[in-house]
Amino acid sequence: MCVDRAAIAERAREILSVVPPGVTVVAAAKTRTPDEIRVALTAGIRAVGENYVQEAEAAQAALGRSVAQWHLIGHLQRNKAKAAVRLFDLIQTIDSERLGDAVDGASRAIGRITPVLVEVNSAREAQKSGAVPEDIADLVRALDRLEAIRVVGLMTLGPAASDPEALRSAFRETRRLFEALREAPCLRAKMEVLSMGMSDSYRVAIEEGSTMVRIGTTLFGPRQVRSAGQEVET
Ligand SMILES: *Cc1c(COP(=O)(O)O)cnc(C)c1O
Repeated sequence: MCVDRAAIAERAREILSVVPPGVTVVAAAKTRTPDEIRVALTAGIRAVGENYVQEAEAAQAALGRSVAQWHLIGHLQRNKAKAAVRLFDLIQTIDSERLGDAVDGASRAIGRITPVLVEVNSAREAQKSGAVPEDIADLVRALDRLEAIRVVGLMTLGPAASDPEALRSAFRETRRLFEALREAPCLRAKMEVLSMGMSDSYRVAIEEGSTMVRIGTTLFGPRQVRSAGQEVET
């Protein structure tokens, strides 16, 4: 596959220049090769978001574990918790107490505390992962009792529809939850990270208080369709 390194580096620098200080850019790396990820890191991006445990393993085998902060941004299956706590510096997609328990147990087993975000289904779409906004405060309190995970914030995707006002209100509601939890008494959790915004929505998300954006297409270019494990050249 042909990788246009100059184009990725250029887009990385452009994104880093428009994102305000205090907002972390995570390179959303699904379907990208280690080579593409390396270019983004060389251009100054510090965090890589992976959707799958296996893709993170492959990328880390090629690039090394210490070249970036590694985040899990895709849904985690409980039976992958053991691998996930070794691979990731931040798990952004905790959406149930059972999953939190699994990550807590796996972290305990290796003597580590894993920072996590709680995923909010701010679009309230049944097919989406994340807990609905009404359940977030209770979920954070339940997770707060687990000793080997540390809740450090919230993450959301927002509605799939490209209606900017629907996006804005989903982000705004997530921000309100974040602030309420930040001021909530008797929580060990320190709410510091509000992960929201992707290629088409990061500007609105930042206006609504995001501290972390996860960007794929705008950084790496359009995702190419894979068939039978092959990249389709365009
Ligand atoms: C793919 C993905 C992104 C980035 O999406 P783009 O629209 O390509 O920027 C962000 N967050 C998650 C969870 C993703 O799966």
